[in-house]
Amino acid sequence: MVQWRAFTIRRINHGIASVSLQEPRLGGVFAILNLVYIFAVATLGLIIGSFLNVLILRLNTGRSVIKGRSQCFSCGHKLRWYELVPVVSFVLQHGRCRSCKSRISWQYLIIEISTSILFVLLAWRVFPLLYYPITALLIAILVYDLKHKIIPDVLVYIFIILAAISGQEWLTGFALFSFFVFLWFVSRGKWMGFGDAKLVLGIGFLLGPSLSASAMLIAFWSGALVGITLLFVSRGGVTMKSEIPFAPFLILGTLTSLLFQINIQLF
Ligand SMILES: [Zn+2]
Repeated sequence: MVQWRAFTIRRINHGIASVSLQEPRLGGVFAILNLVYIFAVATLGLIIGSFLNVLILRLNTGRSVIKGRSQCFSCGHKLRWYELVPVVSFVLQHGRCRSCKSRISWQYLIIEISTSILFVLLAWRVFPLLYYPITALLIAILVYDLKHKIIPDVLVYIFIILAAISGQEWLTGFALFSFFVFLWFVSRGKWMGFGDAKLVLGIGFLLGPSLSASAMLIAFWSGALVGITLLFVSRGGVTMKSEIPFAPFLILGTLTSLLFQINIQLF
């Protein structure tokens, strides 16, 4: 109950409701309002996640991101509206195409659910509205970089602009950018891509010095951990020379540091 109460009070501070919480009879009403609100945000997350799937799939392929119906990769069957309901369609169809029964990638489900969970966390901790599109962009960049080992310019530029408007931490942004450009230059693009430098420009703008520091620590440690694990597990499939994209770790660090406000007191 303490959680609900804290949440309700913060929501009121943000102007959603303006009734005094000291009135105990209203507690139940607010609990229900909170539930409805969280449910709505979770649903929005699923819908945006579903859109991100289409975006990741069609970006740089020449196909419109908005126009054109989705279809099955195996048989080309055009999906009807009831086959496009996030999560529900996947579960009802047992993760298979209704027409040819070939398997649908788990990636779609994972992205939808992750977006939903992150949106709920944003709502729960009452972050500014701009953080929703920022989070959505970061998810899209993460998955795209994992799949294609490149960060799409259009996504990272929009991210930089939104991050600059939202955080306005200019110094941190340019400091991180310079550092990553240095790493990129010294290693001739082997340690870092130039895309990573653009990404941290936005991350710095958004987070400022303290949260950025924890984001970078999480990114480097998790990156090193996964890199070393892959080195051992894959038995030759992955070598020291294999390029493991770094943006996913940067984004993992950023979202963790942001959502849980992990402050490292450096200054
Ligand atoms: Zn099919």
